[in-house]
Amino acid sequence: MANSFQEECDYLFKAVLIGDSAVGKSNLLSRFARNEFHLDSKPTIGVEFAYRNIQMGDKLIKAQIWDTAGQERFKAITSSYYRGALGALLVYDTTRRATFENLKKWLHELREFASPDMVIVLLGNKSDLSHSREVNVEEGQSLAQEENLFFMETSARENVNVEEAFLQMVGGIFEIASQKSL
Ligand code: GDP
Repeated sequence: MANSFQEECDYLFKAVLIGDSAVGKSNLLSRFARNEFHLDSKPTIGVEFAYRNIQMGDKLIKAQIWDTAGQERFKAITSSYYRGALGALLVYDTTRRATFENLKKWLHELREFASPDMVIVLLGNKSDLSHSREVNVEEGQSLAQEENLFFMETSARENVNVEEAFLQMVGGIFEIASQKSL
């Protein structure tokens, strides 16, 4: 029986989630891929990925999105994680300034290992926790402008901007891929 894994698609893209531990990467992915949210942190360690099919015009895109699944807690993410990735969602937690300050380190790593025309979307997650906010929206915007990234604030918990964030990345990748195949 055919399943979504085997389904014909016009493009298959790999994209990665990166950012400090506990910023919400897994929950962003489970929202996007399965529309689920989990209050606890995930139990497993190791790379995981999920697929979702996206229709763009007359093309069917299969986005394969990788999650670090806790690897960053113990050691540096290996270069194979980034290999072949055309997009990245770089996530910080708007309630923990340290996760924002570490973004430069993540960008450095991305630029070292990833393709130079990678589409990067910066996400300030946990926007629902306004009472404990430590990074304001203007700071995220200004870093994105400086580093030439797309930007939005998200809440995986309340499902705000999650779909938009992934679609922005996939749309950006699709645009580059279709220019190349002209
Ligand atoms: P990861 O280590 O970056 O993959 O982070 P997780 O997805 O495991 O999330 C870490 C913790 O933050 C979990 O307890 C989640 O329930 C919580 N969390 C994730 N996203 C949000 C969000 O948008 N809002 C709130 N309030 N909590 C979140």
